[in-house]
Amino acid sequence: MLLTKQQKRWQDLARQFAQTEVKPRVDEMEKKGEFPLQFMKRLGELGILGIGFPEQYGGQNADSFSFILAVKEISKVWASLGLSIGAHLLGANPIYFAGTEEQKKRYLIPLVRGESLGAFGLTEPSSGSDAGSSQTSAVSENGVYALNGRKIFTTSASYASTYVVSALTIRAREKVGISAFILERNYPGLAIAKKEEKLGLWASDTAGLILEGCRVPKENLLGDEGKGFRVFLQTLNAGRLGIAGWALGIAEAAFEQMLEWAEKNEIKKDLMNNHEWEAGMIAESATKLEAALLLTQEACRVKDTGELYIKEASMAKYFVSSLAVETCDLALKLIGASALTNDLPVERYFRDAKLGEIGEGTSEIQKLVIAREVLRKSEKLVTV
Ligand SMILES: Cc1cc2nc3c(=O)[nH]c(=O)nc-3n(C[C@H](O)[C@H](O)[C@H](O)COP(=O)(O)OP(=O)(O)OC[C@H]3O[C@@H](n4cnc5c(N)ncnc54)[C@H](O)[C@@H]3O)c2cc1C
Repeated sequence: MLLTKQQKRWQDLARQFAQTEVKPRVDEMEKKGEFPLQFMKRLGELGILGIGFPEQYGGQNADSFSFILAVKEISKVWASLGLSIGAHLLGANPIYFAGTEEQKKRYLIPLVRGESLGAFGLTEPSSGSDAGSSQTSAVSENGVYALNGRKIFTTSASYASTYVVSALTIRAREKVGISAFILERNYPGLAIAKKEEKLGLWASDTAGLILEGCRVPKENLLGDEGKGFRVFLQTLNAGRLGIAGWALGIAEAAFEQMLEWAEKNEIKKDLMNNHEWEAGMIAESATKLEAALLLTQEACRVKDTGELYIKEASMAKYFVSSLAVETCDLALKLIGASALTNDLPVERYFRDAKLGEIGEGTSEIQKLVIAREVLRKSEKLVTV
């Protein structure tokens, strides 16, 4: 794939960082479930967390695909670190999209520089895919909001210092709508629930937020009261592109394991006669990987024009996250028993890949979004 100079520069920098600084620590930290806080700080210093943000907020002013390529290189080496980057940006992006200049100065700039860690709390025990049915309430009184409720599956919750959360705002006993709030770690009434033990991504922190009369000053309302859901949809849209980049990294890593195995077993010497089955798997994965990269690049291109990119982001997330699971499965089939042991990293890729089909909207939800967008556009064509 042809890359611009800027894209190549960010890809190379992220690859160099991942290969030299991260790779030597991955096995040990992943097994211990050790959160990669020092690497998140380093990513801030290197400018990688700020790739897509304007310079005035401490960012690098680069294009969206530069960021995706950087996330891909990092996730290829360590998906737990890649997911921590994604969650951090879910915390930073809503402040960028809807924050006041004061909020951006206080919260966004430290997040972009990696001086603070962000998290995003939307999912609740009774609202996952249907994120609009949030039960957490925010009652406004005398310039302060009191938040009550539970958030679950909040990535990086135990280590973050800045949280963006949703809550149903209630004023004079009337429901105003869902609002977005910026919370600081030390706010009274905010506690962190126990860390989840997961199938994969052991070093990525997943915990809950307990909000019991959590007092949030009115200055920390993000955007207009009752209009927060739009901000969350915009944030999820950008996040879906991030998940596509993350899943591209896992798919590429699994594919490279397939190539290593093919090299070791000298299958190219007799591809036509004895290895048609293996050749088919390699060809299929190589073709789909190229298609996945192009689909993601196109979604980034549309995003950077300023046009809506809802369909493109959902297509990229849906296609690439399914491909990551499929490529890991093929790599296991091709390599056989040794790929099931932890002598090879394929078993880790296989466990980690599954999150891509669930987090930030499941594949079923992406299909609903894609169908809605396609049908909306076809309706326009008919009526023109
Ligand atoms: C490791 C991890 C990290 C996460 N990090 C975060 C985070 O940082 N912040 C955050 O807010 N959330 C986070 N989440 C939560 C995640 O976004 C939700 O799990 C996801 O949105 C799905 O919600 P659910 O698990 O409640 O599934 P449900 O909504 O209960 O869905 C269950 C099943 O029903 C299907 N389904 C639901 N509705 C429909 C429908 N209308 N049509 C067809 N099928 C449907 C789904 O596809 C799924 O298969 C994380 C989750 C995980 C596992």
